[in-house]
Amino acid sequence: MNTIQNIRKFHEDLTAFRQDLHAHPELGLEEYRTAGLVAQKLRSFGIEVHEGVGKTGVVGVLRAGSGHRKIGLRADMDALPMQEENDLPYKSTIAHKMHACGHDGHTTMLLGAAQYLAQTKKFNGTVHFIFQPGEEGAGGAQAMLQDDLFTRFPCDAIFGMHNSPELEIGEFRINHGPIMAGGAFFDIAITGLGAHASRPETGIDPIVVGAQIVLALQTILSRNITAFESASLSVTRVESSSSAYNVIPHHVVLGGTVRCFSNEIMEFIKKRVTEISQGIASSHGAEAKVDFKVIFVPTVNNKEKSDFFAETAKILLGERNVKTNAKKLMGSEDFGFMLEHIEGAYGMIGNGKGFSPHHPNYNFNDEAIPYGAALYAKLVENFLT
Ligand SMILES: [Zn+2]
Ligand SMILES: [Zn+2]
Repeated sequence: MNTIQNIRKFHEDLTAFRQDLHAHPELGLEEYRTAGLVAQKLRSFGIEVHEGVGKTGVVGVLRAGSGHRKIGLRADMDALPMQEENDLPYKSTIAHKMHACGHDGHTTMLLGAAQYLAQTKKFNGTVHFIFQPGEEGAGGAQAMLQDDLFTRFPCDAIFGMHNSPELEIGEFRINHGPIMAGGAFFDIAITGLGAHASRPETGIDPIVVGAQIVLALQTILSRNITAFESASLSVTRVESSSSAYNVIPHHVVLGGTVRCFSNEIMEFIKKRVTEISQGIASSHGAEAKVDFKVIFVPTVNNKEKSDFFAETAKILLGERNVKTNAKKLMGSEDFGFMLEHIEGAYGMIGNGKGFSPHHPNYNFNDEAIPYGAALYAKLVENFLT
């Protein structure tokens, strides 16, 4: 019997667990109920449990044999602040909170692997099951890292997965190098000089300054960065300190986001956003203050670990269901912070075609559980030989 068939024995229980998490979503760094249930499950499998790692994170430790090698498997647990529009028997019971990214499924797949590995123990070394809080911008990966995650639970390699509604159930894709983008949010606060709108010559109009900045920022990607690099920059907010039709405001704040695939490019874009904003503002006698916050680093796969992940997936899912030249995604993922410390890889597991994550009608597909759980388990059996 193969690993997927073995894990199917727990499929009914795991599905019930996933649907219970779905009905009780918790936002980033508030996953007290979820973390409690995860800890309880791990203990019931006979796995050593460490709670409160990075506030609401949980780490399970399972050893077998006398091997010294250690592997880390990571899943995320948080939900999103949005209203579910599905009409499911287990739909969210909490207004404006929803498991719309499938982290309920990721948590369940990793628990499925833990249950199987605790029973079979066909490996030689240590597994660290890392249940991470707050992936959706709440800084959960960094919270665990600041809590000395990899000093307390050292790993020779780490692996993570996200479900993908662009892939059928049982399909998997991965690539070398960057797989998901790094992301930053910025605010540009422009101070001019307010005036009566009929007499603009008596003031300094921050709206005109802001409009020039919005357009000039688009030249960073088109004129300053090689066409071989992919990046995006969008101004998504424009806020004036006045709501009157006949007042030139004193202040305008522009806000937006940047995505790209290397920390160097992100630093360069930050420098150019600052130079352009301050330069344009000062040429008009206005002032611009730039607050540029990097929220996610790019998720960069180690070549060797990515190949190992792909080979393991091929054994389990069959050669033709594993794509190794997957295109990069402009979305972001905070597993990238963990990959800055430990070599590893991140891949996409098929969720069946459907609504994309963050859509109010998205739902994790329970049929994916045995595949994801078996893949986590197989990584352990192949790595800890
Ligand atoms: Zn998400
Ligand atoms: Zn997600």
